Amino acid sequence: MSKETSAVAAKVVAERSLKERGNLFEVATQQVNKAADAINLDQAVRQILAQPKNELIINFPVRMDDGRYEILKGYRVQHNNLLGPYKGGIRYHHEANLDEMKALAAWMTYKCALHDIPYGGAKGGIKFDPHKHSKSELERITRRFTHALGSNIGPEWDIPAPDVGTNEQTMVWMMDTYMNVVGHSDRNAVMRVVTGKSIASGGSYGRREATGQGLVHCIHEWARQRHFRLDGCTFIVQGFGNVGSHAAKLLSKMGAVMVGVGDYKGYLANTEGMNPHKLAEYVARTGSVADYRGGTAITREQFFGIECDIFVPAALELEIGPQEAETLRCKLVAEGANGPTYPKAEEILLKRGVDIIPDILANSGGVVVSYFEWLQNKRSERWEHQDVLDKLERRMKQTFESVHHYVAQHGTDWRTACYAIALERLQTSYRERGIFP
Ligand code: NAD
Repeated sequence: MSKETSAVAAKVVAERSLKERGNLFEVATQQVNKAADAINLDQAVRQILAQPKNELIINFPVRMDDGRYEILKGYRVQHNNLLGPYKGGIRYHHEANLDEMKALAAWMTYKCALHDIPYGGAKGGIKFDPHKHSKSELERITRRFTHALGSNIGPEWDIPAPDVGTNEQTMVWMMDTYMNVVGHSDRNAVMRVVTGKSIASGGSYGRREATGQGLVHCIHEWARQRHFRLDGCTFIVQGFGNVGSHAAKLLSKMGAVMVGVGDYKGYLANTEGMNPHKLAEYVARTGSVADYRGGTAITREQFFGIECDIFVPAALELEIGPQEAETLRCKLVAEGANGPTYPKAEEILLKRGVDIIPDILANSGGVVVSYFEWLQNKRSERWEHQDVLDKLERRMKQTFESVHHYVAQHGTDWRTACYAIALERLQTSYRERGIFP
């Protein structure tokens, strides 16, 4: 493989700046409005959901390994808590910003409502590049941020989880910091202040692979309905982190072949297929798929043109614009990432006969098992791995079926159906409870 091609690919990725990607909150608003119009949502409910309840920005200092101090900007946006405590991930990314957090927080509200999980929606993060920091710096950044969040998070109030750039270790640092700032007698009772923890520190079996697993359940149901054989079919994955790598491993277990993959450093193709298990080991060692010997380096543009059956976007938002929608040569886009598709691109894909399993359904396995983890902590229980997987499968298939049913009844697209179901649940609760005072 040529290093030169890999460098070109990396440059192309790096060039897709925040400015080029546009405003995520406007995209989220457009999607929700379409469903709100379709169900004729109450004006008051529409107004309440149009903005988050709370938007917190914290500038905080952290000492780096060389003794310097850096001021970092952290966010926590709490969109809605009508159905239960705020719930949503923590993202570490150099382009993290308030509008992105607002969109991601709103999507969590709808994701939980769609599944009828008693949670609201939130999202947070810190604007910095975690790849550029040592483990000890990451620990200090995480602990200082958690301390600064203080009582803005809590086991019955707002429960963070991992997202882009964070992982089980991040959650364990958050939990430990939170435990050390609450009163002595409460220490062991507050483990559930975060989910997505390691097993040793109170996490749930099945949480690590939950988002990828939930996505694969959706793909399985899509295939079953269309009498499409997954065994021997081909797929490509953008983003090979938690969601992308687990989805790829589970799809390959069903006999599907990964013919393209890419991340923030580069893209690869191999018509003979690549082994996602070996690639995951390589990424764990090197931090990226770039220069992996099992594939040939290609550009981002070439990646989107690979002929395949299924495309799994599992990187960042707004990666599929009108140009990519015209270029893609697949039958299904299964959205592992949050918000990967522009509304204009969605129109093009649907017109071209490409199916889309929308993010708030496709990637919801993570929050489903986060809920299971939270319940286990609350009850001081440890559920068996198979138990968790069975419960997740049941929940994903039920929700998939309810969306399928809605589409068949109302003739909407799948994304609108997901939002419509979620909005109707929220609306019913607002109507019954009324709006205080
Ligand atoms: P991660 O940090 O584990 O992995 C992110 C992957 O995307 C990495 O492979 C990274 O190299 C790649 N990437 C980053 N920027 C890129 C770019 N500009 N172009 C191409 N690739 C790029 O994160 P994750 O937890 O796997 O999350 C991925 C997506 O899934 C995000 O949209 C996240 O919000 C969503 N999601 C995650 C979970 C979860 O449980 N982790 C749940 C629901 C949704």
